[in-house]
Amino acid sequence: MPPTSLKIDHARYVVTVDPQRRIIQDGSVLIEDGRIRQVGKAAELAAARVDRVIDARHMVVTPGFVNGHMHISYGHVVRGIFLDDIGSPLPTVFKLQMAMTEEEEHASTLLGLVELLKSGTVGFVDPGSTKFPDACLQAYEDAGIRVILGECVTDQEAPFPLPRFETKEAVARSAAFLKTWHGRLNGRVRAWAMPFSAETCSADLLRALKRVADDHGTSLTLHHGSGAKARQDYQSRHGSPSPTQYLESIGVLGRNVVLAHVLGLDAAEIDAMARTGTTAAMCPVTAAKGGRGVGEHGRLPELLAKGVKVALGCDSPNNSNHLDIVRALNMAAIQYKDARQDMKQITAETALELATLTGAQALGLGDEIGSLEVGKKADLVMFDTQRPEWQAMFNPINNLVYNADGRSIHTVIVDGRVVIDAYRQTFVDEPRLYSKVQEIGEKLLARTGVTLPRSRWPIV
Ligand SMILES: [Zn+2]
Repeated sequence: MPPTSLKIDHARYVVTVDPQRRIIQDGSVLIEDGRIRQVGKAAELAAARVDRVIDARHMVVTPGFVNGHMHISYGHVVRGIFLDDIGSPLPTVFKLQMAMTEEEEHASTLLGLVELLKSGTVGFVDPGSTKFPDACLQAYEDAGIRVILGECVTDQEAPFPLPRFETKEAVARSAAFLKTWHGRLNGRVRAWAMPFSAETCSADLLRALKRVADDHGTSLTLHHGSGAKARQDYQSRHGSPSPTQYLESIGVLGRNVVLAHVLGLDAAEIDAMARTGTTAAMCPVTAAKGGRGVGEHGRLPELLAKGVKVALGCDSPNNSNHLDIVRALNMAAIQYKDARQDMKQITAETALELATLTGAQALGLGDEIGSLEVGKKADLVMFDTQRPEWQAMFNPINNLVYNADGRSIHTVIVDGRVVIDAYRQTFVDEPRLYSKVQEIGEKLLARTGVTLPRSRWPIV
């Protein structure tokens, strides 16, 4: 059993992300029964009697990070197989994903969880890529992470292989999924409705899934984008000026709807999101690596200016490739400066909010996590500043966002439980897992007949 009380003591800085955005120098955090009981100067907490004290004098403590769009099983075992000039890898990725077995998905999920937790992610949305949640539940339990799951459904033709059902069956499956999974593991597992996209699902299906989410007090997420061509298509196909207004017209926007990616929105679409309370999950590294034209299509500053809550995501191991949310928040902070030729865009503080409080709010978790405040669940991250990239330190936020990455994360706590302890996790044998994943990837490629050139340079 984990200790029921824990004190993080004498932190160099505690970055609270509380309503005053206090950064407490020589700070301490007291945790009891999984919740934060006190946050303040170390001297104020000196008298607390606890089961365990973690010396944090070289640490910067922040809230745990949330990842709003993270295909956990999709592609990990074949990560890095796509050369840059092959065009969209999606048809191949979905083919491989659809061919994965239960055992393979379990191993791939474990790898994802190790990488997520070691880089400070305490909770993530898997947008419907887990096909075998029963097999993965043990991994989630052992890892101690928060996960939002759902079954990916479609009822229309798609340009790549996706799970396709009759409309009624898709609705029934989603409802059953929510009933089975929502609230498991002491509430660390949540279940949402997860239609793939508005292009691959009928209006009837989207409407019915929104109702399922409403009825269960949970949420819905789907892949969403816009742009001049998409607006034209939606005008001619649905008589709606844009994809986002189409969703509004069929009743599928709202406070419990998270639109993923959201590139190419125009002002009217952002207004539709703002007035309905719809939120977003944006994947800055996927957008950059995929050459998606953030300068032309990225609207993160406009969404935030209208009060839309946005989470960051790492998407998948063959889009952003890494699962490190600290690198993603760095990209969010720098790419808009470049795209707009304006250094004032997306400040370091805003980027950190996206990965913590604003992101948690976007996912409906803002009352429980996202900041270090009394009464909230004890989800937090400790960065080790005894590393070259953290020197010298005057402004811990700038150092975190611009100097560091997830590799300086020393300790991660979820629900008051230390899940990464001095860089180490205890839920899986990493060397064994690494060789297993490599073997699964090689077998999967052979089995599906995917033969891509491995490297542009000769491997001899
Ligand atoms: Zn996705």
